[in-house]
This record gives sequence, C-alpha cells and structure tokens, in this order.
Amino acid sequence: MATDYAEIAKDVSALKAPPNLADYADLRSSWNWDEIWAELDTPDGLVNQGHECIDRHATGARANKLAMIWQSQDLAVEEYTFADLKRETDRAANALRSVGIEKGDRVFFLSDRIPELYFAFFGALKLGALAAPLFSAFGPEPIAERVGRADGKAMVTTPKLLSKVDAIRDDLPSLETVIIMDGREEHELADRDISWSALIADASDDFEIEKTGSEDWSVMHFTSGTTGLPKGAAHVHNTVVSHYATGKYVMDFQEEDIYWCTADPGWVTGTSYGMFAPWSNGVTQVIDEGGFGARRWYETITRFKVTVWYTAPTAIRLLMRSGADTAREHDLSSLRYVMSVGEPLNPEGVVWGLDAFDLPIHDNWWQTETGAIMIANYPSMPIRPGSMGRPFPGIHAAIIDDEGNEMTEPMAEGQLAVRPGWPSMFRTYWNDQERYDSRFQMGWYLTGDKAKRDADGYFWFVGRDDDVINTAGHLVSPFEVESALIEHEAVAEAGVIGKPDDLAMEVVKAFVTLNEGREETRELMRDLNRHCRERLGPAVAPREIQVIEILPKTRSGKIMRRLLKARELGLPEGDTSTLEDD
Ligand code: ATP
Ligand code: MG
Repeated sequence: MATDYAEIAKDVSALKAPPNLADYADLRSSWNWDEIWAELDTPDGLVNQGHECIDRHATGARANKLAMIWQSQDLAVEEYTFADLKRETDRAANALRSVGIEKGDRVFFLSDRIPELYFAFFGALKLGALAAPLFSAFGPEPIAERVGRADGKAMVTTPKLLSKVDAIRDDLPSLETVIIMDGREEHELADRDISWSALIADASDDFEIEKTGSEDWSVMHFTSGTTGLPKGAAHVHNTVVSHYATGKYVMDFQEEDIYWCTADPGWVTGTSYGMFAPWSNGVTQVIDEGGFGARRWYETITRFKVTVWYTAPTAIRLLMRSGADTAREHDLSSLRYVMSVGEPLNPEGVVWGLDAFDLPIHDNWWQTETGAIMIANYPSMPIRPGSMGRPFPGIHAAIIDDEGNEMTEPMAEGQLAVRPGWPSMFRTYWNDQERYDSRFQMGWYLTGDKAKRDADGYFWFVGRDDDVINTAGHLVSPFEVESALIEHEAVAEAGVIGKPDDLAMEVVKAFVTLNEGREETRELMRDLNRHCRERLGPAVAPREIQVIEILPKTRSGKIMRRLLKARELGLPEGDTSTLEDD
C-alpha cells in the first residue's frame, strides 16, 4: 500500500510556530524521561494527576486562563479557568471524602459529558481514589459486570441515568454509596441516595491533595471489547508523565491552542487526551456534551476556533460520507492540526483531510493498556498515508517473531511489541493478574496487534492477531481489504473477516455499507468485485461481498469483526456489552 499514495511532505517553515518536535531523530537520540519528569511539578517525588493538570496552573500565570469551554447538548456555553477548576475539584474532593471515600477506593462514574463529571473525576484523583469511568449509554448489565469485577465502592451518576444503577445495586455488595449529580435536573432523592449539590454546598473549596507517589492507582479503564470480554486496565499517577510528553510532542500543544478531543471519557482516549494531556500542558480545551453530527462538529470548530483536533476513524468515515463540500461550507480556517486514533485510518481518510480541511489527518496508535500514544505521525514529519507513523521518542517499539527476536527486514510482518517500562504502562488487569502477566513475554509487552515496519522506520498496521486472515497460504490484512473497498465511491464502510473454507482454510468475506443514495444492484456488485480484484489481486480480493445496513461497532466506534464472524457462522456472539445499539 505504501506505493499507492504519495507521501505528504511537510513544510514546517509555513507553520505559525515551530513544532515542539522539530527533528524526530534528534529528539529520539537524546530522549530522557527524567527531563520530562523535571518539567512537571513533583514536590518530594510525589505526583498526582490532579496537581499536574490543575493545581500547578491555578496559582501561576495560567490561573485565569480558560481550561474548559463546555458546550451543552442544546448549545449553551460555560467557561471555567484553571483557578475555577481548582476550586471545583477541591470541593469535589472534600465532598467525596465526606461520604467516606478514601485512597485506593474504586469510584465509578456514569455520566454524560457535563462539567460536574470532570470536577468529580479530578476530585477522586486528588484524594487518591481509583477513578473508573463508564460509557453513559451502558445498560445495567455491563455496569454491574464492571463494578462487580472491581469491587467498586461508590458510583457517581446523574438523575437521568440513576435507574440503570438502581436496577443492579442490590446485587453489588461492595457498592456502598451512590451519589447523584443533581444540579442540572429536577430530581427527587430516595433515602439511600446522596445529593451531589448538597454535598458540594457543605464542602470547603480548599483541599490538600492526598500524598500519592508515581505507583499509586489513578484511573481504571475497561478496554473497548473489540476482541472479547473487556479487561480492566489499571493505571497509576505516573501515567501523567506520558500524557504530558505526548501532548507536547505529538499533539504539539502551544500556549494559545484551543483543543478539542471528541472522545467520551468512557473510552481511554476521553481521559488520557480529553483530560490529562491538554491540562497537564496548560491548554484550553473544548468539551461538547452532544454527540456526532457533521454540521454540529463543524459548527463547534468554527464557534470556538478550534486549532488542534483529535478524533477517530469512525467519525472521519462519517464526515467523508457527508462530503468534503459540507466541510467547505464552514469556516474551519482556525484548524492547524488534525489527528485520529482507535482503528487504522484508511489512506483514503488521510488524504480526504486535504480536500476537506487543507490538512492531512495524522494517525497515531496506542491502546488502553499503553495509557498514552506509542506510535504517531508528527507535525514535522512527512506522512505516508496508511502508516501509523513512527514510535514516540521515548518508546522502543518493534516487530517481533514468535521467539521475541526483532524482525529488522523491511515490511516483515510480525507481532507489534513494546519494551516495558514507559511511564503510562498499565500496572494490572484488575483481578486478573495472570492475564496481565501473559502480556509480558521474552522481554516485551505483546500488543496483540500485527504490523510491519518499512525501511525508514514507519509502522504499518496489519490487523489484530485474531483478525488476520489465512487464505490459501496468504496472510491477508482485513485493514488492507477494507481500505480498498472504501475507495470505491459507493462504499461508506467495510468490515472484512476470514470465513472457514475446506480448500483454502479461510476465504475473505467483506461486509459493506453503502453511501447515501446508493443501492445494491447487480451492476454495482460487479463493479465492486472488479475494483477489488484490480486493487488487491485475485488472491486477496474478497470472495464474497455482502451489503448490510449497519456494521456492528463498539461504543468507541470500532468495527467488531468478531461479531460479523459469529453472525456469519451462526456462533454465539460472546460479550456484546460494548456494542453500539443504534
Ligand atoms: P479489546 O482489547 O477489549 O478487544 P480494543 O483493543 O479495541 O478492545 P482499545 O484499547 O480501545 O481496546 O483499542 C486498542 C486497539 O485499537 C489497538 O490494539 C489496535 O488494534 C486498535 N488501534 C488503535 N489505534 C489504532 C491505529 N491508529 N491503527 C490501527 N489500529 C489501531
Ligand atoms: Mg485490546
């Protein structure tokens, strides 16, 4: 694929400010995590994500700088400075302490993106609790499963979502406290419930942060569940070192930036890059309570003059579907830098950015487990569309064979692995240490993804271990087939699986959704088959292509190939707790 799309060169002299990462090779060779640590404020070696992201800015030159610009579902705006955030999060920490929450307790959050969620979340971090966010769209069962697995002590939620917690709380003996953020909606409190606004009214707005060291628990995220039962990846306060560093060098944060991350905090991107990276860098960020809508999103960029934007391939594919013209109808000239994560970004998506925004989209790769970006495209480095970019300067990533040897031959396909020990590495899967240990072998952290590296050190995603297709002796990357499919003007999205076959072991089967106004006709299917054979060759082109209405996806927007496969083969669907339900 590397040869199909021209490399996108960069001219850094055209940028308003020189990028923080001016020379990749230079920064990589001189990298020292201790120097990054020294840029943070860690008195006596203590580190707390609340302090690094909020308090250290709230007393200095950034005290009156906007930290959060919040847009409600119905487009009202609220603004909070770093000083405001300090006050609100101190109050929240006192409030949580007043109901008996202590260091190490697991506190769950089930809320839409309202300011109080952010206050309460940082309040929990300040008092040393382990904060565990959930998607607000989860039903009772996924909530119970996660709270149960982590012996959650408290749940912070909203009136609207309370019935889901009520449905399960009697089955959860560890769940002692349910707090209801009732400030924005009328709500009649039951005896056993605690009112957030009442707690806050009584709480002092001055809080001394609990003494947390770099290895104390901070955040727990359940993985997206793309490949199976979600795992509870637990992180420590030291993670903020990686958040800060990647914010500075991958997101290229500059003092004047207005940043917008579209991810929900129920997914790791919504905390690592929707809370910690921007705020540890003292950057203003926009938070939108509302969900996806092409026009809403473009209007949000225009309204707040967003400069740096972080989103996901699933959203980019939806924006593509609504057309570059729709983007062009808006003044998006404030944007200077666009990034994406979560799934492979099809080369078509990278270059579509040039049509829509005059900016290519920068893909980067990481996982819930890695806590922060591991491989990225940088503002100063040419983009090879379809590549995830090169490892973050402090990270040693490699393609390894089954014995753990680095495969140095260009474009050799193997497992993507990372040398353990980076600051944001997860420290356990909660209550599943065995599984955690199994991810560390032969001196590597095994990511479970397959990839290749070209001669210049760019990494190319092949697929998840479980998804790579073996057909008549060829290993086929579903991503490659999907990318070819969506290049066809009628195709919106594609999910590709291997279907068992007596002769070939597996054959490639594709599921596609069509762009608006397109219909499945014999002619179209013939054309699609021809396009795939031309593009991929007969050995890799799908044997079957089926048009479907919607592709099953996780709540973080990832295509669930395992579900496509189970449905195709009539097998049990497995864990579907993270399945998007619309
Ligand atoms: P689960 O582990 O529960 O199956 P998940 O792996 O999707 O779910 P996440 O931690 O949210 O959970 O996602 C990380 C995975 O997403 C990566 O291992 C990779 O497969 C995929 N991914 C993320 N970013 C990229 C990217 N830029 N290119 C390709 N794949 C990506
Ligand atoms: Mg995973």
